[in-house]
Amino acid sequence: MSEAPSGPSTPGARPLDRRAAALAGLRGRCPVCGRGRLFSGFLKIAPRCTACGFDHGGENTGDGPAAFIILIAGFVVGFSALFVEMRFSPPIWVHLIVWLPMVAGLSLAMMQPLKGLMVALQIVNRASEVRNDEF
Ligand SMILES: [Zn+2]
Repeated sequence: MSEAPSGPSTPGARPLDRRAAALAGLRGRCPVCGRGRLFSGFLKIAPRCTACGFDHGGENTGDGPAAFIILIAGFVVGFSALFVEMRFSPPIWVHLIVWLPMVAGLSLAMMQPLKGLMVALQIVNRASEVRNDEF
């Protein structure tokens, strides 16, 4: 079990283990201290933790959360629609008014927790974007 890294201005920050950091990320909290906010907007990562001052500015999850959201929401809604169609055979308008809002709501509900989780895992595992000047 490795310790989470401390930010440049986190003298008293208590590093979290992987599980606690992942849970903090899922809740939108700083993965280093578990108290400060990780987001400054719906999906915008706060530049610094408001509690411990850890620098979140370098974290970029790219399309990672969206890929997982597509897989999870597509599985849940796709197989639910298939089950309802095979069991009840409702008219197509029922599928449209049930599954379209459900996939939109499910996707919106998972965006921030999954992005927080991916940022937390990046911080705990010390993953960073590879830049050309590092070679
Ligand atoms: Zn913090």
